[in-house]
Amino acid sequence: MPTGYRFRRGDDATVLAWIIQGATRMDLSELYRSAAFLYGFQLLRLAGMATGEQTRAHQLRFPNAARLRRAEGLASLTVGIAEMSDAARERGLRPQVEGTCACAGTGWVEVCYDPGDPTSVASENCAGHNPNGHMPTPVGVFA
Ligand SMILES: [Zn+2]
Repeated sequence: MPTGYRFRRGDDATVLAWIIQGATRMDLSELYRSAAFLYGFQLLRLAGMATGEQTRAHQLRFPNAARLRRAEGLASLTVGIAEMSDAARERGLRPQVEGTCACAGTGWVEVCYDPGDPTSVASENCAGHNPNGHMPTPVGVFA
């Protein structure tokens, strides 16, 4: 895909061919990993939780921000062009985090909302590791 490409009506087949070409070049497993890392980083950045190491890992993986935005926009258009499998839909809901996280992989971060009272600490879910804020379930307890 040329970096400055703009979608035009009737370009569906061309865009789908570029996606297939890119997926073939990257290998599907790496494409899935990159998409999951992108989703995780976007969640962390939106929540203001992205660490410097995560930002650097993201920039290394996606060095051209303009091209990434363009590719994301075109990829979102394909949802209306091509069918998405249940597996793809499920995979798209599982973000991954690249780089050291403030939660250390636990899914929870302690936050102090009152600088005048450092003992007032609350747990906040990590946007990347625990985007839905699910509480851990004790082992052996089933709903
Ligand atoms: Zn985390």
